Amino acid sequence: MFIGHYAVGLASKKLAPRASLGALIAAPILLDLLWAVFLLLGWEHVSIEPNRNPFLRLAFDSYPISHGLVAVVGWATLFAALYYGCTRYGAGAIVIWMGVLSHWLMDYVVHRPDLPLYSGGNRLVGLGLWNHRWYTIAVEMVLFALGIFIYWRQTKAKDRIGAYAFWAFIVFLLAVYGAAAFGPPPPSVKKIAIATLCSALLIPWAWWCDSHRESADSRS
Ligand SMILES: [Zn+2]
Repeated sequence: MFIGHYAVGLASKKLAPRASLGALIAAPILLDLLWAVFLLLGWEHVSIEPNRNPFLRLAFDSYPISHGLVAVVGWATLFAALYYGCTRYGAGAIVIWMGVLSHWLMDYVVHRPDLPLYSGGNRLVGLGLWNHRWYTIAVEMVLFALGIFIYWRQTKAKDRIGAYAFWAFIVFLLAVYGAAAFGPPPPSVKKIAIATLCSALLIPWAWWCDSHRESADSRS
């Protein structure tokens, strides 16, 4: 799952309207950012299988610290606690907690059985939607459209940046998704990790768009 995680971030604005979209996007992509760091550190392992369908080119050999369910609950709680400590916004903290957890649940739907429940556990889970390339694209596109729709109804632009920077953000995500779904296989594990880390730049971008938008309710 790639663009579906961003859909969760966008849609969660409805549940925590005062939370910045930056934080709401950071939550559902956090696990993959951690994964990239752990790959670079050599603590987690992935290999590339270039001849498979584009969604199956990564074989997740081991990633219990970033994607083990027990660890994920810990990451969610840590991030939500940090968020609450900085903002004192309870609804935001709860939504952040759910956002981090949603990543694992969505990965559970798409990954082949490679997701660990806890570090050292033998049981690996995953429903394997990625085996079906077009179903995956259809599901992610529907989720993404829903996320955009919910966010768009929940907020309104304060100025032009609030409209254009937001749509540029959406188009950029679609372009990256298109490259992943139809482009050539990734050249190396290191490049995957660095590209994934670069997606952290989408967090300040989302924060920036969002700061130029306001609650649509303030109309009344
Ligand atoms: Zn993931």
